[in-house]
Amino acid sequence: MPAKRSRRRGRQQFVVIGLGRFGASVARTLAQMGYEVLAIDQDEDCVQALAAEVTHAAQADATDEEALRSLGVRNFDVAVVGIGAVEASVLTTLVLRSQGVKYVVAKASSELHRQVLEKVGADKVVFPERDMGIRVAHNLISGNFLDYLELAPGYSIMEFLAPASYVGFNLRQLDLRARFGISIIAIRKKDGRLEVAPGADSVIENGDILVAMGTDDMMEKIENDRR
Ligand code: ATP
Repeated sequence: MPAKRSRRRGRQQFVVIGLGRFGASVARTLAQMGYEVLAIDQDEDCVQALAAEVTHAAQADATDEEALRSLGVRNFDVAVVGIGAVEASVLTTLVLRSQGVKYVVAKASSELHRQVLEKVGADKVVFPERDMGIRVAHNLISGNFLDYLELAPGYSIMEFLAPASYVGFNLRQLDLRARFGISIIAIRKKDGRLEVAPGADSVIENGDILVAMGTDDMMEKIENDRR
């Protein structure tokens, strides 16, 4: 089991299971940030490909309860399941939960997959391809779009550069909630300051980044205000 002990930061320890494009990228990024990462895959080639970059790498079938127990996964704070196949991903999540891992994040490939993962105890379910597709689409519509986080189907939080036409106006005057159903929950100022829960009198300045909550089509509405 090749291991590389690197700079350790914080106390959180991560186990990443299923080292496809998604899992490998999560494991590599956490390790680069200095966290302890145990990377597991049933395919020896996938394990070898990542072994030099993470703290520990092991070959195992994650649906095998005994195998996960002997790797000590119960000692990890967070587990990330990057397995695409529904059955193996669900069984792995179940095993991790039964072994007492505190927080389990799992990748889903469909809505049904998400529902099953949540039923067996996944704390967070992600859809990497769908989320990246949404980001790319928003970027195509608006070069001012910066980030996106789904709250619930159809609702999200987005970050974007305030349109020039907003500069000098306060939130009451812009009336985004009544006009578009958009709530501004924070304003990131040019100097890096974050104004959380800005009041109606907060005035938009040139270069402000708005953090907004609303429906998924909010960027189109904001873009209309840029014209
Ligand atoms: P990605 O899009 O992230 O590349 P994917 O959705 O195509 O992945 P798969 O390739 O099916 O998903 O699975 C990702 C990885 O999970 C593979 O490297 C595979 O070997 C591994 N994997 C699948 N089942 C298991 C299992 N039971 N135990 C451990 N690893 C597994």
